Amino acid sequence: PESVPRRCRVRLPPDTTREAFDEAIDTLRKALGEDNVVLNDKPLIDGWYMEHPNTHDAFHLVDQEDLVSSATVYPASTADVQAVVRWANTHGIPIYPISMGRNVGYGGTAPRVPGSVVVDLGKRMNKILSIDVENASCVVEPGVSYFALYDEIQRRNLPFWIDCPDLGGGSVLGNAVDRGVGYTPMGDHFGAHCGMEVVLPTGELLRTGMGALPGKDGADNPTWQSFPAAYGPYSDGIFSQSNFGIVCQMGFHLMHETGHQSYMLTFPRDEDFPDIVEIIRPLAQKGILGNIPQLRHVVQELNVTGHPKSHWYSGPGPVPRDIIHKHASRMPCGDCAWVFYGTQYGDEAAIKTQLNMIKSAFAAIKGFKFFFPSDVPPDHYLHDRALVCSGVPVLRELDWLNWKSNAAHLFFSPITPTRGKDAKIVHDINVRLHAKYGIDLFPTLCIAGREMHYITNIIYDRSSDDEKRRVNALMTELIAETAREGYGEYRTHLLYADQVARTYNWNDNALMRFNETIKDALDPNGILAPGRNGIWPKKYRGKGWEL
Ligand code: ADP
Repeated sequence: PESVPRRCRVRLPPDTTREAFDEAIDTLRKALGEDNVVLNDKPLIDGWYMEHPNTHDAFHLVDQEDLVSSATVYPASTADVQAVVRWANTHGIPIYPISMGRNVGYGGTAPRVPGSVVVDLGKRMNKILSIDVENASCVVEPGVSYFALYDEIQRRNLPFWIDCPDLGGGSVLGNAVDRGVGYTPMGDHFGAHCGMEVVLPTGELLRTGMGALPGKDGADNPTWQSFPAAYGPYSDGIFSQSNFGIVCQMGFHLMHETGHQSYMLTFPRDEDFPDIVEIIRPLAQKGILGNIPQLRHVVQELNVTGHPKSHWYSGPGPVPRDIIHKHASRMPCGDCAWVFYGTQYGDEAAIKTQLNMIKSAFAAIKGFKFFFPSDVPPDHYLHDRALVCSGVPVLRELDWLNWKSNAAHLFFSPITPTRGKDAKIVHDINVRLHAKYGIDLFPTLCIAGREMHYITNIIYDRSSDDEKRRVNALMTELIAETAREGYGEYRTHLLYADQVARTYNWNDNALMRFNETIKDALDPNGILAPGRNGIWPKKYRGKGWEL
């Protein structure tokens, strides 16, 4: 099923004839160079994480050809991006910017409007523009991956860490713009940024923060990467999870390297869950927990080994609880229900003090166990956590995809307060609805002092229409049911953007009306990523595009 003949040779942008499209593409080729505009007219290939397509959603949830581009353009500079944006306005063709396109599980590189032209920034705009050692900061273009930034810091032997998500192949800038998270004390990627250069949907160029104040003799402002908010309204936020601009440069603060110690805790009973959350809250609020720890259900200990589901269980439906227990009891984690991955930072004495406080807090949960990396075999996942939590990018989480053949995955990511009773409401909804649709539940909770990201990884076989149908039904119902209880998603796949946006509807959709006002003012022709995060420009609204 990797590469089947295309139904239509090129999926045209809406309301565009083939003739008008060819003419527009010709103009674009003249402006950017023949080789930098590529038609999407070949068979679609899903590839894999490191060789992912920029033509469609490799983890398709609907027909592979439903979310496709018409072409891809590769700008080399901010000026090129401005030229592409002006071209889109002239021809009325929607464009869809991506950095590296590795936000797998949220739509990959696919545009929301089929036939859009994907603006692949990452391929040629991939420079680390600066690393300021004194200021502990850097400025990057969209094509700089966590691996690339890490390698450069090692090459120059600088005393810094980077903060990467579970997978290190993504774009530092793209992930921050989409408000992704990581696992060192600087895990809030958008929060760690300082200053942006943005091409607006009309082609105008904007610098945010101190960047708006010109430096001496035409230099960049010397405090652009020092002070994020500068003067007047803090505008950076509207360029995250939106379709209000194309970010071409972004500054980030870097973390100084420090001592660190990762560890694993296990808890014996499923029903310990709310109590574990209650214990984490004060530890996190007081800063005793060093990073955003992960709490995972024990079923993930099976999954992250990289063995397929059939290795553990050959029956139909989700792996039953007793089978999970049976296998877990023979693994390093032992017969438990929840597994906690944490890391402490500082010098040896500080780490020792922190660990003592953590152990004595969790002693309230009967049967909890504590493991250092040296207590588990060398191939155990704890060693990969230790790397991620000390700023080293890895790819271990890809092993999840061995669970099924033709595996794809999707995230359901609601936010709850860090309170046992709230977390339990969302967990119970997940347990019930995953069982209803016969899908394994893989919850990973990233728990901070006041909120937690309750993230479930839904794995499906993309060659099975039945599985796709069940996954779609599960997602739709999860979003609706959690919203009824007052909880919402922090991020979602393209296909659920409208539904999730509609749940944020307090006071007669005041927030969406506000977003639409900004969208229409900045993008009067509605060319930039229509529909992204549920924000549709005037041209598209109420014409049946919303899902
Ligand atoms: P990554 O490779 O880090 O996973 P992506 O390039 O896939 O990140 O970006 C995730 C999403 O964020 C994209 O689908 C796009 O909607 C948006 N995005 C990424 N980069 C930019 C950018 N430079 N300007 C505007 N939006 C962007």
